[in-house]
Amino acid sequence: MARKVYVTLTVKAIILADDDANVQEIIDELDYNFSDTTGKAEVLDTTLEESEITDSKLKEYDKATGPCPYCGRKEHWYNDVPLRAFCWGTEKKPHREWHKKVPGKLQPYKEA
Ligand SMILES: [Zn+2]
Repeated sequence: MARKVYVTLTVKAIILADDDANVQEIIDELDYNFSDTTGKAEVLDTTLEESEITDSKLKEYDKATGPCPYCGRKEHWYNDVPLRAFCWGTEKKPHREWHKKVPGKLQPYKEA
């Protein structure tokens, strides 16, 4: 006899990401696979239900630039010299480009 058990796991991941990578996008596209090593069970399915970026340089930038005034998104895409936060909304709800320079001492590029 086998029984189905639903388990909620909390997993902490350390991700080394490129400076210009969108960490939320990486999380959304993560491939993960849990498997039993005791031989007494089989993991039928796993779904990532919740994720939070707990510490990163990008999180500091996100905090400093604040939410997007158009869609309220708090995690941005970063590019440009000097470094800027960008948002265009989501694929389903796009909006015109918003960008804001990473302020003050967090700015990694010296201004000309
Ligand atoms: Zn936005």
